[in-house]
Amino acid sequence: MKLAILSRNSKLYSTQRLLEAARAQGHTARVLDPLRCYMGIAPGAFEMHYRGRGLANYAAVVPRIGASVTFYGTAVLRQFEMMGVYTPNGSDAILRARDKLRCHQMLARQGIGLPRTVFGDNPDDTQDLLRMLGKPPHVIKLNEGSQGTGVILAETPQASRSVIEAFRGLYANFLVQEFIGEAKGADVRCFVVGSEVVAAMRRQAKRGEFRSNLHRGGTAKAVELTDVERETAIRAAKVMGLNIAGVDLLRSRRGPLVLEVNSSPGLEGIEGATGLDVAGKIIDYVAMRARRQRRAQAAA
Ligand code: ADP
Ligand code: GLU
Repeated sequence: MKLAILSRNSKLYSTQRLLEAARAQGHTARVLDPLRCYMGIAPGAFEMHYRGRGLANYAAVVPRIGASVTFYGTAVLRQFEMMGVYTPNGSDAILRARDKLRCHQMLARQGIGLPRTVFGDNPDDTQDLLRMLGKPPHVIKLNEGSQGTGVILAETPQASRSVIEAFRGLYANFLVQEFIGEAKGADVRCFVVGSEVVAAMRRQAKRGEFRSNLHRGGTAKAVELTDVERETAIRAAKVMGLNIAGVDLLRSRRGPLVLEVNSSPGLEGIEGATGLDVAGKIIDYVAMRARRQRRAQAAA
């Protein structure tokens, strides 16, 4: 089967591993830079070109769309969808997941556990907004941050107010959360493929840091999930409409709390920590679903 990995950088670990896994399973696979895909749109006719040539007969595309190319990347992915190419994560689902606030609203509506979260626009409302949240410490996050950048711990009401003022001054959207201290600087990354968690790791922040992101110096180890954690991760991915997702959980006194549902979870950390062939599991799943979609298209 002909597969494409949609990625800006073919040298990245995740991109390389997906390519390797696809080839190992006997598929024809190549990396396409989404910014070099260009499109023609006409009634009932969708064309995609790449470096001077048309792209045709792809059965599936695995999107690896970084936050900096969300708009163009999801437009390219949507074009593939219009052309009948299978993708495990659709363009709409990726767009939804990029917006943390929206993600929290959608998960909360389905009764999935989250740290208590507030957000607001007007400076005059800050005091009451923080009152809604309860006592500090608070965690203040940029709505579209990733890898722990733009996530700040404020230990006093004054600190919360100053950070909020600073973000407002930059016209940045942010949300404010209760700090889950009992997580002790650790979170659990659940790697969801289809309706299974195929790998999980516990990330521990380095000393003096509360953010457990590997990019912030955290360390990772394989972890056993409880049934409730596994179910929470699978449900969170499903609510967001993602078939491949990195669901981050905090272990709290009131059970697992979802921090984030990542639509382009990295493979290096999770494969390194668990020794599992996560890329292979992704390709297995994508090929199975793409075959199914082809059969349905042929029957229609
Ligand atoms: P990002 O998308 O930038 O990784 P997260 O919301 O996942 O942002 O936060 C980064 C890290 O900060 C998390 O992995 C977790 O370790 C820590 N963290 C985030 N929110 C909280 C919270 N409410 N309570 C305790 N720790 C938190
Ligand atoms: N992009 C990485 C992921 O989603 C972030 C890992 C990290 O910094 O913890 O897996």
